[in-house]
Amino acid sequence: MDARIVVLGAGFGGLELSTILSEQLGEAANVTLIDKGDAFVFGYSKLDVMFGRETPAAVRLPYRDVVKPGVRLLKETVTAIDPDARRVTTDAGVHEADVLVVALGADYDYDATPGLTQDHEFYSVAGAERLAGAVQSFSSGHVVVGVCGAPFKCPPAPSECALLLHDELTRRGVRDDCRISFVIPLPSPVPPSPETSAALVEAFAERDIALIAGRRVTAIDPQRGAAVLDDGAELAFDLFLGVPRHRAPDVVIASGMAEEGYVPVDSATLATRFPGVYAVGDVATVGVPKAGVFAEGAARVAAKGIVAQLRGEDPPAPYDGIGTCYIEFGAGRIGAVTVDFLSGPRPTGTFGAPSAELRAQKERFGAERRARWFGR
Ligand SMILES: Cc1cc2nc3c(=O)[nH]c(=O)nc-3n(C[C@H](O)[C@H](O)[C@H](O)COP(=O)(O)OP(=O)(O)OC[C@H]3O[C@@H](n4cnc5c(N)ncnc54)[C@H](O)[C@@H]3O)c2cc1C
Repeated sequence: MDARIVVLGAGFGGLELSTILSEQLGEAANVTLIDKGDAFVFGYSKLDVMFGRETPAAVRLPYRDVVKPGVRLLKETVTAIDPDARRVTTDAGVHEADVLVVALGADYDYDATPGLTQDHEFYSVAGAERLAGAVQSFSSGHVVVGVCGAPFKCPPAPSECALLLHDELTRRGVRDDCRISFVIPLPSPVPPSPETSAALVEAFAERDIALIAGRRVTAIDPQRGAAVLDDGAELAFDLFLGVPRHRAPDVVIASGMAEEGYVPVDSATLATRFPGVYAVGDVATVGVPKAGVFAEGAARVAAKGIVAQLRGEDPPAPYDGIGTCYIEFGAGRIGAVTVDFLSGPRPTGTFGAPSAELRAQKERFGAERRARWFGR
């Protein structure tokens, strides 16, 4: 088996895909996995960092621990992708591929929201780290948790942020001196699951968190402490915890693979319109949310498809678009929402009420991936 498989991005999608190829093909896998970073961080760890539950160092999983037969992990920055020639240019050289997988995730577009910088967002590790001090010392005034555009990663995450903030302020005895508002562009917190949305809306009401649904933040003025919404209304704030607008990385846009911001794929196989080129995870338009579990599910199908093709076997079952996201409700309780996006005419979701068992399941989710990908 001497096909050269080049995988761009070692996030949820790239790590799972490379792991399966290694398991299936062993030393013959011939996978080159490229990432510009030197460590992986689970998305939810950013909330842990902002609320002081973990240090930034503790949540970093170094790529040097990814040791798999047939997989070579390179720390390089991808600077150009030619999908027709399946040729990738990085800051260190050129990689020619027989099979190319783009798993570069979604980037943050700070310029799309005037006034917003990493000082006001918790969706990157650096942003969460910068906000940690302000959050953990905030003692009076108005906090706005504001989403600047959809689609955004892990739709329940900003709801979790509002609920965990309530806990943090309550724990320090200052909740009565603080107001919390939550601005989200979706019509409800988790639209595919009305039951999950209802539970979150009830949790906000119980905690006096003001929900402003169906609106997004279009600009902020940190000097004046004002957030502008898309209907022109202004919200005064003392602390802004933002979710920046997302877009595919510049190198993907420049490659000509993207349409309407992301890379269109056949949702059954994750194949792009370029022969031998796949896209998985947040960088692709599949009809599922931008979340690690969905990136991973798509990666599994793409990996099996690549193996089947190399061995001349039948293609695997199509991607089903089913995934479970855990939701921190605060007070140590974790709920879950499982949504089936692709098998029926419209997405259907089921809600798992917050429980100790779901907390244990979320812990297992992290532990299993640390072991599977990083040997920890
Ligand atoms: C606060 C928060 C909470 C979340 N909670 C959850 C959760 O509970 N469950 C869940 O399933 N998901 C959650 N997510 C979402 C999840 O983190 C993402 O959806 C997931 O990481 C997407 O996987 P991916 O493989 O598509 O991209 P990523 O994991 O983002 O990986 C992309 C990789 O590409 C690399 N890269 C980008 N550009 C280049 C380049 N030019 N050259 C080289 N490398 C490059 C990056 O360094 C990165 O490692 C959360 C996200 C956030 C922000």
